[in-house]
Amino acid sequence: MPFKTVKQLSVKGKKVLVRVDFNVPLSKGKVADATKIIAALPTLHYLDKQGASKIVCMSHLGKPEKELKKGKSREEVEAKFTLQPVAEKFQELLGKKVAFVADLQNIPDEKFVLLENTRFNEGEKSKDDDERKAFARELAATVGKEGVYVNDAFGTCHRKHASVYDITQFLPSAAGFLVEKEINALKPFVNPGKSSVAVLGGAKIEDKLDAVKALAEKYDSVLLGGGMTFTFFKAEGFEIGDSLLDEEKIGEAAEIMKKFGKKLILPSDIRVAKILNKEKKVNELGKNDYKDVKEVPSDEIPPGYTGLDIGRKTIENHKKIIAQAKTIFWNGAMGVFEISDFSKGTMAIAKAISDNKAATKIAGGGETVEVIHEGNLEIPTSTGGGASIDFLRKKLPAIEALERSR
Ligand code: AMP
Repeated sequence: MPFKTVKQLSVKGKKVLVRVDFNVPLSKGKVADATKIIAALPTLHYLDKQGASKIVCMSHLGKPEKELKKGKSREEVEAKFTLQPVAEKFQELLGKKVAFVADLQNIPDEKFVLLENTRFNEGEKSKDDDERKAFARELAATVGKEGVYVNDAFGTCHRKHASVYDITQFLPSAAGFLVEKEINALKPFVNPGKSSVAVLGGAKIEDKLDAVKALAEKYDSVLLGGGMTFTFFKAEGFEIGDSLLDEEKIGEAAEIMKKFGKKLILPSDIRVAKILNKEKKVNELGKNDYKDVKEVPSDEIPPGYTGLDIGRKTIENHKKIIAQAKTIFWNGAMGVFEISDFSKGTMAIAKAISDNKAATKIAGGGETVEVIHEGNLEIPTSTGGGASIDFLRKKLPAIEALERSR
């Protein structure tokens, strides 16, 4: 590997700054799923055993900057996105005292430290190179001039952020075990060869169009599902009722369909319902918030109905293609899987992928992993959703930064 890994880094007696991915789900102020914290432990234990004098961990959590932009107060946002509950769980799982700090100028004496959410500082995600660099310099200073840096946050490696990208200018840098493992696991999917199938779902089309293009370039078939498909239907001239639509992306969706034609397999039928309570998010709807669940051909969604899952014909068709695949790459839900009436598509596709024992396969993205755990399915997973898709088509910025580092 052209970048250094943690085993090639001399850490004895040194302070180490580690970028971990502690962007975990929280529920009622507690960590709801600690998978990502557990995944970071091997690198941290290794550094400790190798005699690092101090281990300063940092991570982002959620998207606090989005809520600030919406006009919420800083206090409110910081209370919601603080890493404090994560620090408690981290300390418990690590089995050692962890000091939690918000002030980068005052790093306490404890061996293990967790810094507050990196995204509380605008420099973390800034588009301005100097602003990002200034924050990276501040972060680097927490381990001093003799310090070293380890990136073990694969899920953020596709981002040009201060704590994964700019930081490598200031400290000798290496990849942690998790980043190394994830990259090795994804390699077979970069050039998947014959009989390859990508399955792509999810809601946010602005995040997905580049992914559709990247996957269609490399894979024999791209099976589509989820909320993003309705923008494609609109581009075909179908009526989509009240289904999710991104008006601005209709043109691009049309171009993609023209370019990749038959490779893109859109749902032929859709499970729809009439939503009665429009105040709620679709994935929080209760039984009384919708009615008239039915399946219709994709070009016959009636006015007033919302598409919420793929239909049975689509499930059967997608399943057949998956059963014959030799390589399968999956990212994103086929419908509103959080609600049992609309989870059948996602569950059936997940099971079909799991049942194809001969295929080389991987699934990425938060929800996808949730479904796999829930269904006790046998599909290897990547902790990076967006990062795993970007990895297929280009070198990730944070990996490039590791390669450039001294
Ligand atoms: P994303 O973050 O873009 O991968 O989207 C994941 C979310 O997409 C999940 O929470 C699903 O509930 C949601 N989703 C899937 N299908 C639909 C749909 N047809 N309409 C609205 N949301 C959907």
